Amino acid sequence: ATPMSVMVGVGKAAEYGVLIRQGDALQNAGKLDLVILDKTGTITEGHPTLTDLEARDGDTRQLLALAAGLERHSEHPLAEAIVTRASADNIEPVTVTGFDASNGKGVSARFGDSTLRLGNRRWLEQHGVDLSPLESAANRISNNAGTPLFLARDQEALGVLGVADAIKADSAAAIQRLHDAGIRVMMVTGDVEATAAAIANQVGIDDVRSEVLPENKASIVSDMHQRGFRVAMVGDGINDAPALAAADVGFAIGTGTDVAIESASITLMRGSLHGVVDAIEISRATVRNIH
Ligand code: ADP
Ligand code: MG
Repeated sequence: ATPMSVMVGVGKAAEYGVLIRQGDALQNAGKLDLVILDKTGTITEGHPTLTDLEARDGDTRQLLALAAGLERHSEHPLAEAIVTRASADNIEPVTVTGFDASNGKGVSARFGDSTLRLGNRRWLEQHGVDLSPLESAANRISNNAGTPLFLARDQEALGVLGVADAIKADSAAAIQRLHDAGIRVMMVTGDVEATAAAIANQVGIDDVRSEVLPENKASIVSDMHQRGFRVAMVGDGINDAPALAAADVGFAIGTGTDVAIESASITLMRGSLHGVVDAIEISRATVRNIH
């Protein structure tokens, strides 16, 4: 495209809240044939709320005090749900030391002379925690599209917390537009399979990769590129940054983390997935114009 038509296209995109930060992104957008979407904060609002509290000893207030003690040191959207609920219920979070976040797995810290861990099943099981007593509660949470987070003190499972995130009102419609434009759509998430499937099903995606660690999101992007796809990645989190950088076109959700925005070539100021389709359509029109 001529510099003039690209300028016009970039201006047009801006009217749709689609901020093109790298010149060639506009031209590349029209060639995309695979859009990979992160789940939390991209398809969903990214402001989860606490829906379930299951303490093995029945003391849900103590469970929440322990969980909030950990999560008040975390910046993950899941943490916000737990800290907010503890505060609303007037529960004082416990004091922990040596907080550590394991990307895509969970959080841990010292509490007294024990170690507290809050995170996904696989990670806690790797640390030798037997989660079978919480199995049915966890299944109920994930089948309802919620994320189960397990809390353990050393090797002892203390309970499970369910956190759910509303799907953005227009995600399903935007995904339908992508399909109508002949584009394949895939969802990648660090979340467990049942939760991922429940969300994907509600927005009309049948290609889902779950329990994907942050570093592997980028491998999926490169792998699909190598198979000949022109790949877009859409994400909001720190954990999406490598995948955004690896994609032919990276789209960051405008309300997302700075790292995601810096790694992407396009910012969706309105946070809506419609922006992806708008960019593709404007790109196609721009390229068409110059022939
Ligand atoms: P997503 O791809 O959905 O954005 P992440 O890669 O950030 O998810 O996290 C994957 C999983 O790791 C979460 O579903 C959760 O089970 C666990 N996890 C990550 N961060 C935390 C945290 N701060 N507290 C508890 N669990 C966490
Ligand atoms: Mg996300």
